[in-house]
Amino acid sequence: MTMIGPFHPWRDTLHDLGVMGLIPVPLVREAVIEKQPRPIMAQSAQEAVQEKTNLPVVPAPADPVAFPPPERVAAAATLEDLERGIQGCLACPLGAGRIRFVFGEGSGASGLLFIGEGPGRDEDLKGRPFVGKAGELLDKMLAAIGLERGQVYIANIVKCRPPDNRTPTGPEAQRCLPYLKRQIELLAPRVIVTLGATPLRELLGVQTGITRVRGQWQRLEMLGGIPVMPTFHPAYVLRQYTQEVRRAVWSDLVAAKKWLDDAGTR
Ligand code: SF4
Repeated sequence: MTMIGPFHPWRDTLHDLGVMGLIPVPLVREAVIEKQPRPIMAQSAQEAVQEKTNLPVVPAPADPVAFPPPERVAAAATLEDLERGIQGCLACPLGAGRIRFVFGEGSGASGLLFIGEGPGRDEDLKGRPFVGKAGELLDKMLAAIGLERGQVYIANIVKCRPPDNRTPTGPEAQRCLPYLKRQIELLAPRVIVTLGATPLRELLGVQTGITRVRGQWQRLEMLGGIPVMPTFHPAYVLRQYTQEVRRAVWSDLVAAKKWLDDAGTR
């Protein structure tokens, strides 16, 4: 009889056959371990395990371009360094489907950072965030509070386009999040505006629907606490182009701009 699969189902099967007590458990476990995929872990940890078990060492993903190591991300001293270090990333399934990597762009000078969900078709083609219809609306939203695109920084939760513009999954977003967090550390924004539910959920862990939470100040626990104003995503505004929705977004942006202006005098 060939033993494959995890230990517990085999233990149950052997138990059902009434032979569990006839085979010493360590033998069953050894036979099952033979069929298990080798764990991937840090080299030093692997060596420690190998010393004790004699299992062969399987190296961790070693390609630092496709799997940028956390030390490289943490060591990036500028946004340009960071982009160079991660633009070949294939660490989640979205990487394989992208045309262009969309790092984010703009200026940190105003202290205002906008965070959206992920690149869409136009962004994927051009390698820039918010360049389609939603981007045009974002430009208008900025103009309404007296700002131009070049004065703010714009980024997304994920840097590669999800297929069919679907929402990034939790694991995809969390895999990409260290890059955005390093961007935030380097930009040190005074105010963040999140666009839609995804950045709020993935960056701040807020699960409440965007309709209920928009317009209410949140706080990102980084750099001593950064105020976050959640508002609707421009793509949602385009779909729900009502006066009520537009007015809500405008008032959220006015509040963010006021905080920014007041921060300059504090
Ligand atoms: S979405 Fe982020 S984690 Fe996934 S492949 Fe692109 S850069 Fe890497």
